[in-house]
Amino acid sequence: MPAGRFAPSPSGDLHLGNLRTGLLAWLFARSTGRRFVMRVEDLDRVKPGSEQRQLDDLAAIGLDWDGPIMRQSERREVYDATIRTLTAAGMTYECFCTRREILQAASAPHAPDGAYPGTCRDLTAEQKAKKNRPPAIRLRSQVTEFTIVDQLHGLFRGQVDDFVLRRSDGVPAYNLAVVVDDGAQGVDQIVRGDDLLTSAPRQGYLAQLLGLTPATYVHVPLALNVQGKRLAKRDGAVTLRERPDAWALITASLGMPDAKNAEELLEHWRPTQVPRDPWVFDPSNL
Ligand code: GLU
Repeated sequence: MPAGRFAPSPSGDLHLGNLRTGLLAWLFARSTGRRFVMRVEDLDRVKPGSEQRQLDDLAAIGLDWDGPIMRQSERREVYDATIRTLTAAGMTYECFCTRREILQAASAPHAPDGAYPGTCRDLTAEQKAKKNRPPAIRLRSQVTEFTIVDQLHGLFRGQVDDFVLRRSDGVPAYNLAVVVDDGAQGVDQIVRGDDLLTSAPRQGYLAQLLGLTPATYVHVPLALNVQGKRLAKRDGAVTLRERPDAWALITASLGMPDAKNAEELLEHWRPTQVPRDPWVFDPSNL
């Protein structure tokens, strides 16, 4: 059975904006008869204890999930195998560029906006031997753009460059792991914050290369602070543990202030109700 998912990074407590996105992912999946799976994206920037606190908070607002929780830190072998397959098909190359070199090349007049300019695409063995730093692995992309289908944004066409699959420190890149894992978990509906909309074409293209079924996306508006910036923990009382009024705030922001719990929300939920505008949230209003 197809699935929706939530995939938090355990780098600290979830704030109300993250919880609301998780709740929307759950509502979309459950209201369309999908399974709902959980994945912990713990390849880097892990804060000890944070995974359990995040899962506890998601359960506390009424989310439930099917099957075992997937942890990316336990799946290095699967990512490496995928990179080997792509490499055998001639679809990767080693990149020795430093961040600085990339920034310089990307700001050159002919460089497309923010795209990796392909500096290392065709290095000879001799040129590689002269580089004395470990390489990152990049995808040898055959396209410069790719179109994904988003329930809120429609057909979204965006940039695809030779993005990183494995960083030079050996850690699998987010774009690779997320695609491999969505495939492995049977995910065909991806509901997440709209800060990730511009990553979706890269991920959709990689999914296609790997022969995976294309997913439908729903990139939902983020929560913002009163300055209009993305809500963050430094904004004050923004986590479930700091907000006795969390449920009321979240349901009000979804236009369903009377729902007492997640089941009641689901009963009356229609996907057309998904908010179109960011949720502006003033944490100082306790
Ligand atoms: N782990 C990512 C985050 O917490 C989300 C990745 C995704 O939903 O694709 O921002």
